[in-house]
Amino acid sequence: MGFVFVSGRRSLDFAGTRKWRRSDAPEEQLLSPADLSAWVEAAGLLDAAPAFGESDLRAAIDLREAVYRTASARLDDRRPEQGDVTLLNDHARRPGLVPTLLPDGSTRRSGSAGELLATLAADLLDLLAAPARVKRCANTECTRLYVDTSRAENRQWCGMSECGNRAKVRAYRRRHREGDRSPADDRTTG
Ligand SMILES: [Zn+2]
Repeated sequence: MGFVFVSGRRSLDFAGTRKWRRSDAPEEQLLSPADLSAWVEAAGLLDAAPAFGESDLRAAIDLREAVYRTASARLDDRRPEQGDVTLLNDHARRPGLVPTLLPDGSTRRSGSAGELLATLAADLLDLLAAPARVKRCANTECTRLYVDTSRAENRQWCGMSECGNRAKVRAYRRRHREGDRSPADDRTTG
């Protein structure tokens, strides 16, 4: 399915299941309830996801979009949308996923769709409560959000394989075209 977990927070990784939001062709990764199950298991939130229904998928996508808009609003110094505030609070105040310790010392992660969404909503609110360095990938078409935990606070890309490499290839090609650029090009690139 190609899910990636590069955001440093589950809520932001979840928002990233809709990719290239600013491009002409955004890529939706959660097309069916089975896709949602696969994401939840890949994220390590549940050992075995329950059988989600279409209504669970719709609720998950509604929450995901609220997560994306609200994190973006924080990035852009805007107030969140009132509907998103209500939705996020409604989910976050409900019981979330809780792992169970078994007598043999192993653990089991199980839970319902409602508990899953509560956990994801609370994760975003925890993130917003702290002065974390949430950033947007420097690739202008990529809309993946992540927490920059680098010591120098200079992480620019969501993940090198998806965007950093593309940007490096473009920069390389740009440098190697410089020989035949017109003077006008030089002025615009400063
Ligand atoms: Zn990116």
